[in-house]
Amino acid sequence: MNKRQSFLPYGQQWIEEDDIAAVIETLKSPYLTTGPKIAQFEQAVADYAGAAYAVAFANGTAALHGACYAAGIAEGDEVITTPITFAASANCARYFGASIVFADIDEKTYNIDPDQLIRSISPKTKAIVPVDFTGQPCDIDTIMDIAKRYGLVVIQDGAHSLGAEYKGKRVGTQADMTMFSFHPVKPVTTAEGGVIVTDNPEYYEKLKLFRTHGIATTTYAKEQGDWYYEMVDLGFNYRMTDLQAALGISQMGKLQQFIERRRELAALYTKLLRNVRGVTPPYQAPEALSGWHLYSVQLNEQELGMSRKQIFDQMRSANIGVHVHYIPVYWFPYYQRLGYEKGLCPVAEKWYEGALTLPLYPKMTDQDVHEVVAVLKNIIG
Ligand SMILES: *Cc1c(COP(=O)(O)O)cnc(C)c1O
Repeated sequence: MNKRQSFLPYGQQWIEEDDIAAVIETLKSPYLTTGPKIAQFEQAVADYAGAAYAVAFANGTAALHGACYAAGIAEGDEVITTPITFAASANCARYFGASIVFADIDEKTYNIDPDQLIRSISPKTKAIVPVDFTGQPCDIDTIMDIAKRYGLVVIQDGAHSLGAEYKGKRVGTQADMTMFSFHPVKPVTTAEGGVIVTDNPEYYEKLKLFRTHGIATTTYAKEQGDWYYEMVDLGFNYRMTDLQAALGISQMGKLQQFIERRRELAALYTKLLRNVRGVTPPYQAPEALSGWHLYSVQLNEQELGMSRKQIFDQMRSANIGVHVHYIPVYWFPYYQRLGYEKGLCPVAEKWYEGALTLPLYPKMTDQDVHEVVAVLKNIIG
C-alpha cells in the first residue's frame, strides 16, 4: 500500500518568521511577564470576538478554572457538560468540588443536546459548560434560554471555535463567559495559553483576581502606602507571559486566513468522501459556520466489515496521523471512581465507537487531503 514519506499529524501550528521576530523583540524588552503585551493580546482577542473584556491565562484549562471561580461554583453544586470533550471541560468544576452531570449529545451535531440538558437540571445545578466540538458552535441561543429560565451561568468552552460563527455572529459574546485555547493544535497559538471573553464587568474583575493569587489593590491598601497590597481571596499564579502574548498578537493577525484555509480543506474532504460507503462526513447545522478545528468522520464498522481500530492502525502505518476525539470523559478511571457508569450517554458512546479524526490544519496542501482520502479508500477497499 502507498505510504506517505513524512508523517502527517492531525493538527499542527503554523509559525512564520514574523511570529518569531515578535517573540524575540519581547525577549529584548524590559517585560517578560506582566508587561504591555498581555493587554494588547487581550484587546486583540476581545475585538475579534466582539466582547467587552478578555482575560489571558497560562492555558485554556486555567482559564476555565478561572471562569468557574467567577461563576461562584462551589462544593454541592452541579455543573452540566458534554461527555464528548477534552477532560478539562469537566475538570474545571471538579477543582471546586462540584459534581459533574454529563448530558448526552445530539446525534447529528455531536454537541450537547438541549433536551438532554434540560433533563439534567436539578435544584443543585449552577452552571453549564457547553462545548463547540470540532469548531462547530453548539446551539447557544437555546442553551442561553434554558440557562435564563433556571438561573444558570453558561461557560462556553470555545477551545475549538475561535473564528467560528453561530447565526452569522462570531463565537464569544453569546454566553456569560467563553473560553478560547491557544494550544498549538488550536486555531492560533501562544504555545500554551487561554483566554476568557465576557461582557460582564464583575466576572472580568474576578477573573483578573483569580489569575494573580487573589491579590487586589483595594482602597484600604492604597491608604497604607504604595508598597501595600492585599490578598483578598485564594487565587493562583495563572499568568500568561509577555513572550506568549507577543506570539499571540502576531498569530491573531493570521487567524481569519487560517480559518478560511481550514474551511477549504474541510470542503475538499467532504467532496471526496461524499460517496464513500461506510464513511459519513461531519454534519453541519444550518445556523453554524464551523472553524473546523477537527475533521471527524463516522465509520460504520458493520458496513465496512472492519473495525475502527483496524482502519486507525493501517492509516497510522501509512504515516497518516489519524486520531480519535474524544473518549467519553466519564469512562476515565478518575470519573469511574466517582461512580459514573458506562451506558450513561448512549448517543455519545455509539458515536465514539465509530469516530475517526482525519488530519486538518491550515498548512496542509490539497494534495495532502487527496492522499489521506486515497489511503483511506484503499484500506476500506
Ligand atoms: C484544548 C482544550 C481545552 C484545554 O485547553 P488547554 O489550553 O490545552 O488547557 C479545553 N477544552 C477543550 C474542548 C479543548 O480541546
